[in-house]
This record gives sequence, C-alpha cells and structure tokens, in this order.
Amino acid sequence: MLIFRQLFDPASSTYTYLLGDAKSGVAVVIDPVFEQVRRDAALISELGLELAWSLETHVHADHVTAGWLLRERTGCKLALAEAAGPECADRALAHGDRIAFGARYLEVRATPGHTNGCLTYVLDDWSRAFTGDCLLVRGSGRTDFQQGDARLLYRSVHAQIFSLPKDCLLYPAHDYRGLTATTVEEERHFNPRLGGAIGEEDFAGFMRNMSLPHPKKIDLAVPANLKCGRPADVGAAEAAADPAAAEQDWAPLTYTFAGIWEIQPETLEEQGNRVQILDVREADEFSGPLGHIEGAMLIPLGELARRTSELGRDRPIVAVCRSGARSAQALTILRQAGLNACANLAGGMLRWRADGRAVEAGKSLG
Ligand code: FE
Repeated sequence: MLIFRQLFDPASSTYTYLLGDAKSGVAVVIDPVFEQVRRDAALISELGLELAWSLETHVHADHVTAGWLLRERTGCKLALAEAAGPECADRALAHGDRIAFGARYLEVRATPGHTNGCLTYVLDDWSRAFTGDCLLVRGSGRTDFQQGDARLLYRSVHAQIFSLPKDCLLYPAHDYRGLTATTVEEERHFNPRLGGAIGEEDFAGFMRNMSLPHPKKIDLAVPANLKCGRPADVGAAEAAADPAAAEQDWAPLTYTFAGIWEIQPETLEEQGNRVQILDVREADEFSGPLGHIEGAMLIPLGELARRTSELGRDRPIVAVCRSGARSAQALTILRQAGLNACANLAGGMLRWRADGRAVEAGKSLG
C-alpha cells in the first residue's frame, strides 16, 4: 500500500508530497519547504516512516527548500537534476533514473522548460506524477528566467506528461487557487496554454507576452537552493523561519503534526523546579483519585484566560489535565497571553499515573 500526503505551504503556495511504502516504512518527500520542516518531520515521525530521499523537482525561485534541514534531522539523502548542478546533493538525477523507496520507486523524467533542470517524478505504476512547475493545474510554470524556454516546456509536457495514461493523477508544485490535482486527460483537453489544438508556436507566443512580476524571493531563494537550503547561520535562519520553535529550547520537547508542543513525563520529572506545572482540570479532579503532580498550580481551563497573570514569566509552563486534551487547549490561551515557553504533558495524569509516578492527594490505583 502507498502512503501519500499532500502538504501545503501557504506563504509560497507550494505543495510538498510525502510518499511512503507502507510495508517497509521507507518514504520520500518531494519539494519540502524550509519553514515547514518542523511540521513535515513531525508527520514523518508520527507515521513511523524512515525518510530515504528528499527530492526537488527543480531549483525553486520562490521558496527555500528544507532538503538540507531534513538531511540533518533524518539522515535522508538529497537528489535533484544533474542539469540543476548543485554539489550539495547526494545524487544527481538524469532522465530514466529510478528513486527507490521500499518496494516502490519513482521514475525520473527530464521535463525542462520552466528551468533547464526541471524533473517530473512518475510513480512506478503510472498512477501519479509530480510535475513540479512544468505543468500546473490548468496552467504551466513561467519560462522567463532560470534558463526558461517555452518551446522546450511545450515539448516536455507533450512528450513526457501527456504521454502518460489518461487517468494518471498529476500533482503540481504550486497552486495559487488551492486546486490540488488534475489528470492527464483533463489537462490535454482543458489546459488553456497547452491543451487541445494549441501548438508549440501558440504556446511560445502566449508565454512571450505574459508580463509577470519578478519573483519576490528569487535573489534569496535561488542561491540558497543551490546549496540545498543550507543557511549560512543555521540557528539564525531556523529562528527567523520558526519563531515559536526558538522559544522552545528549554527542554527536549516533541512537536506533533497537530501543532502541539509536548513534554514526555520522564522529561518533566528531570526539569524539577525549572518549570511551573499548571493543572487545568476542575478542583474536584485536582483533589480526586488521580491526584496531582507535586507543586502544581490549579487554574481550571475555563478560568485560564482571565487568570494568566497569576503565572510567572520567569519559568516555562507545563500544562496538565486528565488525558492531555484540555491542557493542549491551554497552550493556545497561554500563547495568546504571550507565554510562549510552554508545553503539554503528553498523556496527561492518566499516563503519569499509569507510569507509576508520584502524585499528591491521589488514591492508590492499586
Ligand atoms: Fe519554479
């Protein structure tokens, strides 16, 4: 079975794709975005996947890749087109190459035109293809910079993409209207630049007369992507891309795909008095059979928004409840009050007790 996820970066309207072989747990990611690395790494971890490759469809001009960061975090390898040139990649891909992940593979097709190093990745059974900026949903990539060539793009689309089975799903690198996928047949008929009876000359004329603004990030993104997204100052770049993470270096925390910072019970125990424990259950639960963690301050969730001033700003806060659900909501309230160094106790009091950890006022659960 194939594991498949389409992820979105709203700032650059980029789609990142995660493909995994369910049996072996080996996965690849296509076009990851620098600012989304924490999210994407969380998903890969929650799905229990081992990332083998981070692939680029091309050297992007509108966002910086997360390839280098992913290699640092997961040990995956990086690959992109030989024609694109970066020496930072572990593998330079050429037309006809295969990228294996478990029992599955992606076939590499050279589809230049938007840039000279554009690739389309086609799934082994030809059911899906990842077209980068070559073919977009009812559109195409621009051809006015990065060695772009409209005639070449037209030929790439017709020879390498429109030749796939008509029901093959096509996934672009971007969509600015939120359209997520299309098919070969749809684009052959309805693509207003490349479909129907439109010829190479028509397409070249269309592209020549497009007046598009210079991409905002091109001067930053292209040099960064030629280094596979490796920043000059890693710490500063990560902090700028992800200010919330920069404030969460007070303990080894886990970030979930749901967007919640969690602290594991054993890590909380090691923190001792360096953190404040905020219990957001009701008073009767606080003194009920599950008990509470020594030193915990009780502020029920319903009262938290108007009582945040009772919390100190000198120490990070760990929110606790019965199961970890209400305390996750408490983090949102804390952040709204400017208390950014905070985490949720994973599994709440239920897990704390199940692990046999110490409590006050609780009953022995025998
Ligand atoms: Fe592009």
